[in-house]
Amino acid sequence: MSAEKMVLPPDWQKIFENLKSAIPKSILPSISEIAEIDNDPYRVLFSTILSLRTRDEVTLKSSNKLFKAAPDIETLNSLSEEKIAETIYPAAFYNNKARSIKKCAAIIIRDYNGEVPSNRDELLKLPGVGRKTANLTLNLGFKIDAICVDTHVHRISNRTGWVKTKTPDETEFRMEEILPKKFWIPLNEVLVSYGQKICTPQSPWCSKCTIPEYCAKINVQKNR
Ligand code: SF4
Repeated sequence: MSAEKMVLPPDWQKIFENLKSAIPKSILPSISEIAEIDNDPYRVLFSTILSLRTRDEVTLKSSNKLFKAAPDIETLNSLSEEKIAETIYPAAFYNNKARSIKKCAAIIIRDYNGEVPSNRDELLKLPGVGRKTANLTLNLGFKIDAICVDTHVHRISNRTGWVKTKTPDETEFRMEEILPKKFWIPLNEVLVSYGQKICTPQSPWCSKCTIPEYCAKINVQKNR
């Protein structure tokens, strides 16, 4: 189906129902699984920092080890950078992440009374925190509407033709314009799971897709 033929605006309710129908609850993304325990902004923020460029299974294991060693921010702040690196290994860039985590913990204690800030601009001032991490922390830690765009959300939103953007930040801003607010928080969880299992980066499983009528298959050269 070409982008021109796609019916716009899309029926988001139907799209979300169809996407969810293809995703068993057991394959929640790691941060959602961590957040499900208590929606603790502390856990959401630091596990999201850990998750950057790291596979989901590794994120989950490394985060669990980190929160066992440091169940709260004061304890985290008392750990050395080396100890944090050792604890989160083998998360990608564990040395750099340990440095950011250590600095973040100190800043949150010094400037925010030990509470993770619930404001995007403040979150973005923290080391190692970009828009994706800030928005996911707002979503899962504070239930604040924000669109968290990672590689899956960016890829699928462009493939389907919902947006035509070059960067995740552009995707976030465009999706804010076209997606009703009630879908902002679920968008990330749904598309991350869908992107891991069905609309995969290489050769997506279009034969198993539950939203073919809402996809223009932009730049999809090969599919299964
Ligand atoms: S799996 Fe195929 S049809 Fe479905 S959203 Fe991805 S590219 Fe489109």
